[in-house]
Amino acid sequence: MERRPFIAGNWKMNKTVGEALDLVRSLKATLQGVEDVEVAVAPPFTALYPVAQELKGSSIFLAGQNLFWEEKGAFTGEISPVMLKEVGCQYVIIGHSERRQYFGETDESVNRRVHAALHYGLKVIFCIGETLQEREGGVTFSVVERQLEKGLAGLDAPKVETMIVVAYEPVWAIGTGKTATPEQAEEVHQFIRRKLEKLYSKGVANSLRIQYGGSVTPENIYGLMAQPDIDGALVGGASLKVESFSRIVRFREI
Ligand code: PEP
Repeated sequence: MERRPFIAGNWKMNKTVGEALDLVRSLKATLQGVEDVEVAVAPPFTALYPVAQELKGSSIFLAGQNLFWEEKGAFTGEISPVMLKEVGCQYVIIGHSERRQYFGETDESVNRRVHAALHYGLKVIFCIGETLQEREGGVTFSVVERQLEKGLAGLDAPKVETMIVVAYEPVWAIGTGKTATPEQAEEVHQFIRRKLEKLYSKGVANSLRIQYGGSVTPENIYGLMAQPDIDGALVGGASLKVESFSRIVRFREI
């Protein structure tokens, strides 16, 4: 089954509005004509609206980096799915390891966020992955399995198939310069796909895209994308510069 590669840039807490607009203008120009790869960018909340205006008419999608599950109310500092939709997001990243590590997100709170996103028609880049301690302790598969089961609990197969992208991001590889080898990543991607087959169906498992994330660069993307179960990348550091991000998107041309 042909799955369209999906490369997304997670800008994290980087880029003022002016810097975000500069980057997205350059990306639009550099990525013009790229049709065989789906592309999304996830600027910080403050830059979403201006970036959305700049992206009108381009094929680059817009993603939020997180959301809170309520539609509105007394939740100081939070952003709702309705707000993300209104400014033009089609995607939202949920369960990123930095949210889990630094902001106390759990499988349960991640699951509530996933449900809220889908309820309001936002597609989800759903992040999972083990820490170094868990990998060294030999529990990578059980951690990923638990994150999948709990994070996607209560969703039906058609929703998962059409609205979810899984991002496998080993925590020890994020922002550290230590990428998983293509073989290490493929082993877990294959495990995730088998688990999705058991949880839903072969059809869901075959069509759902699984991105790899963790120090992806123009130098290592080709080897990762050559693996049968790696369908794209969630890119942090290398998405902040037009040169590196566009080379990653154009991985086939390297
Ligand atoms: C990420 O933020 O999802 C990520 C993978 O970051 P980096 O590419 O910088 O490791």
